[in-house]
Amino acid sequence: MSENPTCELPRASRTLPSDIRVSFEFFPPKTVAMEAMLWESINRLAPLRPSFMSVTYGAAGSTRERTHATVARLAKEGVVKPAAHLTCVDAARGEIDAIVQGYWEAGVRHIIALRGDPQEGLGAKFCPHPDGYESSCALIAGIKRIADFEISVSAYPERHPESLSLDADIDFLRAKVDAGANRAITQFFFENEIYLNYLEKLRARGIDIPIVPGIMPMQNFKQTAGFAKKAGASVPQWLADRFEGLDDDPQTRRLVAATVAAEQVLGLVDHGVRDFHFYTNNRADLVYAICHLLGLRPRLELKAAE
Ligand code: FAD
Repeated sequence: MSENPTCELPRASRTLPSDIRVSFEFFPPKTVAMEAMLWESINRLAPLRPSFMSVTYGAAGSTRERTHATVARLAKEGVVKPAAHLTCVDAARGEIDAIVQGYWEAGVRHIIALRGDPQEGLGAKFCPHPDGYESSCALIAGIKRIADFEISVSAYPERHPESLSLDADIDFLRAKVDAGANRAITQFFFENEIYLNYLEKLRARGIDIPIVPGIMPMQNFKQTAGFAKKAGASVPQWLADRFEGLDDDPQTRRLVAATVAAEQVLGLVDHGVRDFHFYTNNRADLVYAICHLLGLRPRLELKAAE
């Protein structure tokens, strides 16, 4: 026990600030069974009143219709604000513009604008469509010309694998803000210092939009670690150690995953962070538990709206 316990400031996460805001990311379902799981997760998480729920856009536009159908249904049900991810890969400007126009007509007001990756995946060289938007900045400007959408973009606290340096990456984020981005959502990270140092650098460079940390609860350590390697997100040894020996024990793995993610978000709350974007992997339970720890409770009046 500390000799002078009064010296220690109370952790903000102990008192649960009332201004926590969350958003949830899903991917469009491929099968009827996956669709059922997705909507079960959406219905479980919606009463937590997220700022928005976003739906990703598959590589090279491969999920165009499914993304649109999911986002349009969210907009129609009107319980949660939807956000549609959109990339400029392999599509002419006219096609992209028609998608954007369709979203506006469906009542969608928020787009997560990305350059995206070529069909061959992350790491393959991006070549713009000859008649397409050549970069995320061009896409943002194009969307803004169509209608006054709220626009979120990506941010990379450990730099994007294609960028020459973190500074060059920050310059690029600056260009996205100048093009009209209202918010950035980060690639996932596991050491809070990485995000906090990055945030400090962005603020010092005059980038003042919200930089929302992307939180990845580890449903599957091996899979996430493999993806992290390609995406340039570091996986610390202490994290690998925590999941060691659990490959064939999904139940314990999930408890450990919840603990790890809870420790991360509560640590960020202690540093003044109030907004969180969760990569849900279309599953509600871990994210729901973490949100509960953050002080979020279901608003029961939602039942009347269902
Ligand atoms: P950008 O931010 O446009 O570029 C990434 C980096 O590359 C820049 O920071 C810059 O350093 C460098 N760069 C790029 N273009 C130039 C240029 N012209 N000049 C100089 N430097 C340049 N992918 C999907 O396919 N679908 C999704 O729905 C999806 N959602 C995502 C959501 C989030 C929150 C994040 C973080 C990523 C998501 N991605 C998604 C992944 C993303 O498409 C890939 O990381 C892709 O490689 C880059 O797209 P971007 O918009 O992040 O790139």
